[in-house]
Amino acid sequence: MDLLRPLSGRTAIVTGSNSGIGLGVVEALAKSGANVVLNSFTDEESDHATARRIGEEFGVSARYVRADMSDGEACRWLVAEVGGCDILVNNAGIQHVAPVDEFPVAKWNAILAINLSSAFHATAAALPGMRMKGWGRIINVASAHGLTASPYKSAYVAAKHGVVGLTKAVALETAGQGITVNAICPGYVLTPLVEAQIPDQMKTHGMDRDTVIREVMLARQPSRQFATVDQMGGTAVFLCSSAADQITGTTISVDGGWTAL
Ligand code: NAD
Repeated sequence: MDLLRPLSGRTAIVTGSNSGIGLGVVEALAKSGANVVLNSFTDEESDHATARRIGEEFGVSARYVRADMSDGEACRWLVAEVGGCDILVNNAGIQHVAPVDEFPVAKWNAILAINLSSAFHATAAALPGMRMKGWGRIINVASAHGLTASPYKSAYVAAKHGVVGLTKAVALETAGQGITVNAICPGYVLTPLVEAQIPDQMKTHGMDRDTVIREVMLARQPSRQFATVDQMGGTAVFLCSSAADQITGTTISVDGGWTAL
């Protein structure tokens, strides 16, 4: 085995990976030698360009495949289209914030479909191939909200708790088969989307960047530091390593202490 590129010869699908955490996970897996499949629901030239850049930068095969993770058939099609995978990272996700009695039904359905049901469909499609090879890694990107709640995020909290439950059930169904199933539970991660909210928050609260990050955005994250997409990628690579062969059916919090409160 190439110790510097331990995932050489493995193929990874990362759903929702044209930005943010998914892209960070793709880059970390590619750096470790895995061939990667990027995905989102768009089909922009920039999506394909990102895949080309990753392929060239890390010397792996990298392609972008459009598939809408709100559609169960499309989730299964994605896995079949790329010929299965050794590593499946269920990462696609959206958020909407509203009181439960005002929560738009369409938003509830979309959040449950994209954040939870997509993981069910992609897992079901990927497992037979993993079983045939006797090796597989399923990594579900849940959230601190998979373990704890916040008001006005009923759909997101329900979906992420569901992801943690799905993780445990599938881990039991695959135990001893060379396949592990785990959930990463990030706290607040500095993604481009979060970065873009900082100027508005500074204006709203009349605070400088550091203060608004520490006192407002990271009020629930005891470290008062964002987690990073690189740290999410590193955690995914660890879960794919042989050191993690017996880690299955569990959650790894990368949340600066949020869930210890
Ligand atoms: P992001 O918006 O940058 O990434 C979401 C990804 O999902 C994008 O690539 C987007 O294209 C994709 N996506 C959305 N709808 C889709 C659909 N219908 N079909 C296919 N792809 C779709 O946000 P992110 O912060 O990187 O979030 C990634 C995951 O991490 C999500 O599951 C999110 O819930 C979770 N998470 C994020 C944070 C955070 O602080 N950023 C914290 C905890 C958990």
